[in-house]
Amino acid sequence: MRYISTRGQISPIGFKDAVMMGLATDGGLLLPERIPTVSREELAVWQELPYRELAFRVISLFATDIPADDLKRLIDRSYDSFEHKEITPVVREDGIYILELFHGPTLAFKDVALQLLGNLFEYLLRERGQRMNIVGATSGDTGSAAICGVRGKENINIFILHPHGKTSPIQARQMTTVLDANVHNIAVEGTFDDCQNIVKALFNDLAFKEKYALGAVNSINWARVLAQVVYYFYAWFRVADAGGSEIVFSVPTGNFGDIFAGYVAKRMGLPIRRLLLATNENNILTRFITDGDYSVGQVVQTVSPSMDIQVASNFERYLYYLFDEDPARVRNAFAQLAGAGRIDFTPQELARVREEFSSRSVNQEDTLAIIASFREKTGYLLDPHTAVGVKAALECTGRDETPVCLATAHPAKFGEAVERATGIAPPYPPALSGIEKLPTRCALMEADLAKVKAFIEEKAR
Ligand SMILES: *Cc1c(COP(=O)(O)O)cnc(C)c1O
Repeated sequence: MRYISTRGQISPIGFKDAVMMGLATDGGLLLPERIPTVSREELAVWQELPYRELAFRVISLFATDIPADDLKRLIDRSYDSFEHKEITPVVREDGIYILELFHGPTLAFKDVALQLLGNLFEYLLRERGQRMNIVGATSGDTGSAAICGVRGKENINIFILHPHGKTSPIQARQMTTVLDANVHNIAVEGTFDDCQNIVKALFNDLAFKEKYALGAVNSINWARVLAQVVYYFYAWFRVADAGGSEIVFSVPTGNFGDIFAGYVAKRMGLPIRRLLLATNENNILTRFITDGDYSVGQVVQTVSPSMDIQVASNFERYLYYLFDEDPARVRNAFAQLAGAGRIDFTPQELARVREEFSSRSVNQEDTLAIIASFREKTGYLLDPHTAVGVKAALECTGRDETPVCLATAHPAKFGEAVERATGIAPPYPPALSGIEKLPTRCALMEADLAKVKAFIEEKAR
């Protein structure tokens, strides 16, 4: 399987190179040259498989340049760190299926992808005799999952910048209590934007980027999307086993990574009826799907902070398919976005979007209300991101459809919002117990590019 860019200006590369490249060098995103399809007979076989074996079947179709035994080992190791034997179990509450994606080490769905990506990086760096310094900015979830994915790994250092005092206390501790020698937390005296601007400047300094072999772990890496395709199959099978049909996945969406994985599963032939894209007040994607209006607004802070995003980086991957795999049309669309802050679509394109997706935006008040009412009815605690998806599912799945809601974080991770909604602080799962008392290591730094650079130079030596 070879990989191409949505912008059409790189020559095709293999899976291993695609993982190492991250963002395509022409500024686009990498995609497989064609998406493999799975026959009904094959689906019937897959339906019987435990998670790890299913993951191997799915991933091996795309990662054809990694020997099967190696790939199996990488997958097994990645999911050994999960607390639940099913990895991503499906539960049923009040007639709604909930796909629990939060049983990994940092309690958010990002572990599913970042545990695998960490192991892939280690494997590829060893094979190539290379080192890598991962640099990233985080407002919370991605940083802790990325750190957990590469802690203690050979030939990798990780530098994660977070805004000092502006993540939730738990999120900060999930990062700074990791004491492995290759993990470097930087608390920046500034905002998330300051952190992100510093990281962008580091990557734009091509000499620095080259010299220190900077690598990224953001959700544009194809391996992250690929790892997430697996649980759409797994959940669809569990719901079908229980008699569900016309399955609709409701996906709380920020960067469009998670829901794009569902779209890939659908294109592979998994009979998903529809994908329901749930947003908070940052609803550009909802406006796009319902009104064809893709114009960038201001980011609003909400109780579901991991979805507080306006420009969703993975959306470009979907546009590539919407534009019939025409990279010139993708380039034009992003030129228009850069100039006018919006992209225009034809009526035919919008009609197609609405066959595949529907969407709802859920405000903060309704998010907190659904957390409270769901708990009263079922005793089940929803985290605020999951709650956005559950509310959207309750509002817009048809009578003949079976909704499956992706639970993207454990409620204890966003305990403040859950307590505000229900009066109950969610109990800590084992992964968090005693975290307040653990020792931490973190460098506090001004929002100053030169200082961050000097720090990386010193530690990377
Ligand atoms: C990252 C994240 C999301 C958004 O996922 P995308 O792939 O960016 O759309 C939703 N919920 C939680 C808890 C997250 O951490």
